Amino acid sequence: MKCDVLIIGACTAGVYFAKRMAQQGYRVMVADKCGKEEIGKRLSIFHMDEAQMKRFRAPKPVEGEDFVHSFNFSASRSAWGRWEKYHEHTVNVMKLPEYIKRMTEWAKNYGAQFAYKTAFKELILEQGRVVGAKLIHGSKIITVHAGLVVDCSGITAAVRTQLPNGCVCENFSLQQSDKFYVTVKYISFVRPEKVHIRHTISWPYYKVWIAPRETPQGAILGVGANMSYEYGERCLEKFLENIYIPEYTVDKVERGAVPYHRPPYSFVADGFLALGDSACLTKPNNGEGITAAWYLADIAAKEIGKVLWKTKIPTAEDMWKVNVRYQRTQGAAYAELLATMTGAVDCSPRENNYEFRNNLIFKSNLRNQKTDKEQEKKDLIQGLLMGVLQGKMRPRTILKLLHYSSIASKIKHHYLEFPEDIHDYPEWKEQADALWASAGSMADVVYDKKYYLSE
Ligand SMILES: Cc1cc2nc3c(=O)[nH]c(=O)nc-3n(C[C@H](O)[C@H](O)[C@H](O)COP(=O)(O)OP(=O)(O)OC[C@H]3O[C@@H](n4cnc5c(N)ncnc54)[C@H](O)[C@@H]3O)c2cc1C
Repeated sequence: MKCDVLIIGACTAGVYFAKRMAQQGYRVMVADKCGKEEIGKRLSIFHMDEAQMKRFRAPKPVEGEDFVHSFNFSASRSAWGRWEKYHEHTVNVMKLPEYIKRMTEWAKNYGAQFAYKTAFKELILEQGRVVGAKLIHGSKIITVHAGLVVDCSGITAAVRTQLPNGCVCENFSLQQSDKFYVTVKYISFVRPEKVHIRHTISWPYYKVWIAPRETPQGAILGVGANMSYEYGERCLEKFLENIYIPEYTVDKVERGAVPYHRPPYSFVADGFLALGDSACLTKPNNGEGITAAWYLADIAAKEIGKVLWKTKIPTAEDMWKVNVRYQRTQGAAYAELLATMTGAVDCSPRENNYEFRNNLIFKSNLRNQKTDKEQEKKDLIQGLLMGVLQGKMRPRTILKLLHYSSIASKIKHHYLEFPEDIHDYPEWKEQADALWASAGSMADVVYDKKYYLSE
């Protein structure tokens, strides 16, 4: 069997890229190990920023089918719930399995073909280049030769992890400490007439949030944590000791992990592309990954669309612009955020309270608000020093924050200089490795943070 683009995984990343390539006239095949009805079932409800959906021209959800609710702002609160910040944006609350069906029809309309219950088995390599893949359907092995094989298999990165060692796209697999473990509880309030959750409220200190669900009598209570689901449950317990949530019962629980690791430096290799969770493309501060992946998918569709018609198997060099355009924009911003987060979470509830109260780190983000980055930096340093003088911030917290934000800024600038020429990449990579080594990881903070659950 032959096609131009073979995509492994038919969820949000795979279907979006399938549509973008089929739209350009390429023969696209998407294979998923699950049956059509099971796709996206791991998550009943999800959220997407409406402005992002418009930007990527994603299909509109429909009331009574996949659309649940929308709201125009979300809020975040300090560790003791005394201070609140607002973020103005319109968010759609939708049903994932139903929305995936809508997206699949959208991609099929452009000619993409789907094979369900068809799992990726292994790559077909010729002189180190990816030229296709072997798939399994029941007991049948299907050999597919493709110009481009795309990994959209989610966090397991079933395809990328099989790339040969030394390949320009790294083949690392995620360890326990490289994941963020998310538990979502679908709750019903015992006295629903007294409470209605209309928008998302988060408490970054505990990494807990509450959000609307499909019934106004209830809500989604979520927690995300490094290391394990069990650690997340302990964070939730600590949260409930400090923050009042009206009495509720739990109807069901969903769990899943999101990547908490920097993406591979190169998303492309000869005949290969990684997208979505398989490429660790989640937004570091909230774990949302759908439109984060579409951003790269959009760049890849444009750049690869230009070269695929004139070459049988595009090389990493042919597709290098995908890396340059991504890493110098969203890549740099997310890398900075990922490195900064480690310092931002490493504080006590009292310090978190002080940061909220004084608009340090945690700020409202309003549509009509202008930001001056230089002034913000000065205000942050001044505010933190005042915190020490007033005994509200410990010097160690400030030193850690400054350490992490200085490394984060260096990482961002390094990504902004991602090499135009693939031949300059080894030197860039060596420097990037050194910077990430000094950035540490959030998991280390969790280990150190003895006071976190006891204060
Ligand atoms: C609890 C939770 C809540 C979340 N909420 C949100 C949210 O509200 N908004 C948001 O933007 N993000 C959210 N995320 C993150 C988001 O779900 C992911 O970033 C996104 O779904 C990743 O999409 P993907 O297509 O890359 O991978 P997946 O959605 O994981 O899809 C991978 C597909 O590949 C298939 N597959 C896997 N292995 C193989 C194989 N060997 N052969 C063939 N097929 C294979 C799977 O069956 C699956 O269909 C949440 C994550 C979790 C865990």
